[in-house]
Amino acid sequence: MPAPTERTRQSAITVIGLGPMGRALASAFLDAGLTTTVWNRTPGRDQESVARGAVSARSPEEAVTASGLTVVCVVNYDASDSVLRRREVTAALKGRTVVNLSADTPARAREAGAWAAEQGIRYLDGAIMTPATTIGTPHGVFLHSGPERLYLEHKPLLDALGGTHTHLGEDIGRAAAYDIALLDIWWTAMTGYMHALAVARAEGISAQELAPFARGIGEILPPAFEEAAVEVDNGSYAATVNPLSSAASTMAHIVRTSEAHGIDASVIRAAEGLARRAVELGHGGDELTRLTELMGRGA
Ligand code: NDP
Repeated sequence: MPAPTERTRQSAITVIGLGPMGRALASAFLDAGLTTTVWNRTPGRDQESVARGAVSARSPEEAVTASGLTVVCVVNYDASDSVLRRREVTAALKGRTVVNLSADTPARAREAGAWAAEQGIRYLDGAIMTPATTIGTPHGVFLHSGPERLYLEHKPLLDALGGTHTHLGEDIGRAAAYDIALLDIWWTAMTGYMHALAVARAEGISAQELAPFARGIGEILPPAFEEAAVEVDNGSYAATVNPLSSAASTMAHIVRTSEAHGIDASVIRAAEGLARRAVELGHGGDELTRLTELMGRGA
């Protein structure tokens, strides 16, 4: 955890939302020596933060009035809107800064940014890419977007959360856009893994027997991601190693095996369908990266 600077020591911060992530954020701010005011919709969920030294606000307007910077971390933007757009809260926030770390879509972030500007609220959006357990450690990854000057003004306080903070640009939706793309990788990969474990189990292989080999697959992915990124940006899809015709055939084996066991194959079936379609369109000799181009034009 970074040592509190004179500036952070003298500063105050408000955290709205005390789920696992909000509580972790509040703890990190407290550990950095900040005066931390907290509020959560359901009363009583602030006990852990209060025990660590946080000030419990009786209302969200009281909470946001306590600090120049309010960090919001609730389930989504419906939830953050339902707090920030209460008349008293909006009025209290005028001239203050909100950093909204709640996850949602880029469109919602842009809409909220426009609303905040109309209300005279200084507004940044952000996304947290690592679990609550990483907050306050060097392992947290935070993405931010919105006015750079505002970000730099509040960076000393945000640094109290530890980890790496990256400002991605002035477009307020950009952090959410990265978040969506990165979570796309996470959820499709993890759902694929859950399917793999179901197929393995049906074949008499325990999850822990498979795990060391699954790790091996995981280790192949980082260089594959980087090579694919170059191919996609360059639009160079010609296969050197693994043409789509071969990939589609391998995927079909997985579909057949899982369906033979009565296992829902919808995830791999979707992938196999895309690969087969690409082959039908004459791209059988291309790399899997061709799918990005085909999906992008709705083919
Ligand atoms: P949740 O996503 O479950 O959010 C819980 C928080 O949202 C609680 O404070 C809850 O209040 C509040 N909330 C829900 N609905 C409303 C509402 N209508 N009005 C006001 N408050 C509401 O828990 P997390 O703390 O884990 O996540 C918070 C955000 O952080 C999410 O956007 C999540 O995607 C993101 N995140 C979380 C990670 C993690 O490891 N947990 C990792 C990376 C990102 P109440 O107690 O009253 O229900």
